[in-house]
Amino acid sequence: MLSTIAGYVAIAVENARLYQSLEQKALQIERLKDFSENIVESLRIGVVTVDLDDCVESWNPQLEDLLEIPRSEALRRKLADVLPRDLAGEISAQAASDHVSGIYRFHLNTRSNRHLVVNASIAPLLAKNGARLGRLVLLDDITQRVRLEDQMVQTEKLTSLGLLAAGVAHEVNTPLAVISNYIQMLAKQIPEDDPRQKTIERIVKQTFRASEIVNNLLNFSRTGGTEPVEVDLNSVLEETLTLVQHPLKTAQVNVVRSYAERLPVILGSTTRLQQVFLNLFMNARDAMPGGGMLEVRTGARNGSVEIEVTDTGAGIPAEHLHRIFDPFFTTKATGRGTGLGLSVSYGIIKEHAGKVDVRSTPGKGTSFRLEFPVARKAVHA
Ligand code: ADP
Repeated sequence: MLSTIAGYVAIAVENARLYQSLEQKALQIERLKDFSENIVESLRIGVVTVDLDDCVESWNPQLEDLLEIPRSEALRRKLADVLPRDLAGEISAQAASDHVSGIYRFHLNTRSNRHLVVNASIAPLLAKNGARLGRLVLLDDITQRVRLEDQMVQTEKLTSLGLLAAGVAHEVNTPLAVISNYIQMLAKQIPEDDPRQKTIERIVKQTFRASEIVNNLLNFSRTGGTEPVEVDLNSVLEETLTLVQHPLKTAQVNVVRSYAERLPVILGSTTRLQQVFLNLFMNARDAMPGGGMLEVRTGARNGSVEIEVTDTGAGIPAEHLHRIFDPFFTTKATGRGTGLGLSVSYGIIKEHAGKVDVRSTPGKGTSFRLEFPVARKAVHA
């Protein structure tokens, strides 16, 4: 009897041991699951997994923020119904691949019409025995990076153009001065009522125009110069508006001012900043041939002074937007525009450690936003 009972007891003990080890294994698996889920949840990259039918199985919080689609809405739906259609199309085109594949710099719009640029990596999800379970898609938001890269390329391009322009301008300046001197001497040698005086006058006028262009080119590339002083941008804007009051009125442009009270001062040169604003105002006027509204706004934020010059003019087509700061880029008729206004302004803004940003909607208008660092108060011991 004892040996019979001993057999049952042995089995019971063995079962209890097995049960305990099973429980431990389950706990370990649970922990492992939590661990990997925590990693996926805290990643700064959007992660989505889909099964073999392309139905969404997981959707991490970063993806909720990125695409503005909550997890509850995305789960168990087809990938093509939740991701932007063309992105889903590109992803499913790579469905057969056994390797990790990538889509670079994909442009998409979110629900609230935010424009994003993403890199996507697509990897097959495989079981231990190599069987396919589905796919893993990683979406990395590179919008900010792309913007900074574009800005860097633009700055580098303008710096090298500036150096080139300065070189050419120096070379051209001397012969131009010589021509100008000789032609003035010639004008004195010929009697005043001589009909050739008219031709000479034309040459003088054109040489002046040429030297104005050369001076602008030199301004574009010049850095430093006069000692910076404290500048109140509200008054510089107001003085510049007074200067252009007449041409604006003639063009039926209505000026709306919204200046911030007690704007902090910045360090710089009043005359050079005036040149920037003058260019912006005159460009705004030229963009509104039938009249319109020019709004000048100032404000202070995070240690910077902001100026926004907005017009209700023709706007700038997207394909021109990245060229408007290039020297000699103009869409105006010959004789009306030199294409140097904005490139000179860009040089001046950089000289003042400032930034400039343009937004434009063709047919609606353009807005130039400038930002300059506030002058730091000297610390008295
Ligand atoms: P210019 O005025 O001599 O043409 P700029 O460098 O000042 O040279 O401007 C370059 C070009 O940028 C202009 O010819 C015009 O096409 C465009 N532009 C600048 N400002 C505006 C604006 N406010 N609205 C529309 N287009 C503009």
